[in-house]
Amino acid sequence: MKIAIIGAGFGGLAAAYDLRKAGHDVTIFESADYVGGLASGFKEPNWDWWVEKFYHHWFQSDKHMLGLIRELGWEKQVYFPRPLTVMYDKGRFYPFDSILKMALFPGLGWGLDKIRFGFVGLFLRLTNNWRALEKTTTDAWMMKWAGKNVYEKMWKPLLIGKFGPFYQQANMAWMWARIKARTTRLGTFEGGFQAFADRFAEKLRESGVEIRLRAVVKSIQREPAKGLVIDSGKKEAFDKVLVTTSPALLAKLSPQLPESYLKGLLELKSMGAVVMVVSLKHQLSEQGYYWFNLPKEAGYPFLALVEHTNFVGIQHFGGDHIVYAGDYLEAGHEYFSMSDEHLLERFLPAFKKFNPAFEEDWVKKTWVFKTNYAQPVPLVNHSKNIPSIQTPVEGLYFASMSQVYPWDRGTNFAVEIGRRAARMMGE
Ligand SMILES: Cc1cc2nc3c(=O)[nH]c(=O)nc-3n(C[C@H](O)[C@H](O)[C@H](O)COP(=O)(O)OP(=O)(O)OC[C@H]3O[C@@H](n4cnc5c(N)ncnc54)[C@H](O)[C@@H]3O)c2cc1C
Repeated sequence: MKIAIIGAGFGGLAAAYDLRKAGHDVTIFESADYVGGLASGFKEPNWDWWVEKFYHHWFQSDKHMLGLIRELGWEKQVYFPRPLTVMYDKGRFYPFDSILKMALFPGLGWGLDKIRFGFVGLFLRLTNNWRALEKTTTDAWMMKWAGKNVYEKMWKPLLIGKFGPFYQQANMAWMWARIKARTTRLGTFEGGFQAFADRFAEKLRESGVEIRLRAVVKSIQREPAKGLVIDSGKKEAFDKVLVTTSPALLAKLSPQLPESYLKGLLELKSMGAVVMVVSLKHQLSEQGYYWFNLPKEAGYPFLALVEHTNFVGIQHFGGDHIVYAGDYLEAGHEYFSMSDEHLLERFLPAFKKFNPAFEEDWVKKTWVFKTNYAQPVPLVNHSKNIPSIQTPVEGLYFASMSQVYPWDRGTNFAVEIGRRAARMMGE
């Protein structure tokens, strides 16, 4: 079969791998001039490794991603250090990535709240019944079972950070999936996620997959005599097409989809993300902390501060210290239209809260990355809202972050859904 894949993110590349192995003629259309999609990276001349535009790491439980890497024989290039995650309480940060550290966290006091926090966490790690949990919001479930104090201290800031105005609507299965699938050791690929994507793309090219960069797909139409015709400046017909972009973009590309499927795509909610990457002359967190969880009400202008070089060694970046400051935001938030300079003015003063010695002349260079589609919002009974991989248009398939539910989006699940779609297309 002649198959087209729209998007050379981790999902599209994984689907191409299986479809080519099954003997199909595969072409990938990618609008950017690089592969890797949301997990892509950038590099300065003095860096050996790429830095992801949006902070990225793997969990040890990412079996689809790690399984693919094993199949490719590249597992020796995967590293799993144990960087430190910290939690905020009254202006200070406390390590929060093991049961002992959680037990010692002062923010929950020393009594019943800590016990409730522990029991709720244990229950969520043990249960597999996410279908019962999706019937209620995290807000309501946590208030009931963890209690007001624990909810407001631990979970509400996370929900507000991730879902902004929708924080009370996110369902409890989303929280379950986060707790279930995460580990304290975090992984990356030698050279960064972009190094993996480039090497994978090269392997695909060698096997005969055609990857067209700067190829923007404008429409996909089924024409009875020809099959699925893709317009990317010129028109070409394919037997089957897999789209891996956002649901909104699929709706635009393929208006032939029936009303009910289109409505389903357009009703899905998601958050965007704005991330500033800063290279510094000095280490910001002298304690070597990697990930700072920040509650919005504490007045930080961003949700997370992530010191990448407390996870990956500075020797890979010519001695530069790399810090991310990022936030999940609804479309139309002022950060999306703010200039990089203005955003820097907003963000930089907060760096002193992580190290009082910080001075603006520590900054060597800054980069800002923005995306409208970063985090799907799962509402109550969300499993009913997931668009099917096989769309009602014959031969047209769809595999995106919005369909990996109940799991939270991630490259692991992009690989899983890409490969699942490939299996369905090959049948
Ligand atoms: C802030 C942030 C942090 C994250 N952190 C992590 C993390 O720590 N670990 C992790 O595993 N995952 C993380 N993720 C999620 C991860 O990046 C995604 O789940 C994954 O990259 C999605 O892959 P995909 O192939 O489904 O989609 P994408 O990567 O979005 O790929 C879609 C591709 O389609 C292309 N495209 C779009 N329109 C067109 C068009 N018209 N024509 C042709 N091509 C087009 C795009 O350029 C893109 O390359 C994070 C994401 C964000 C935003």
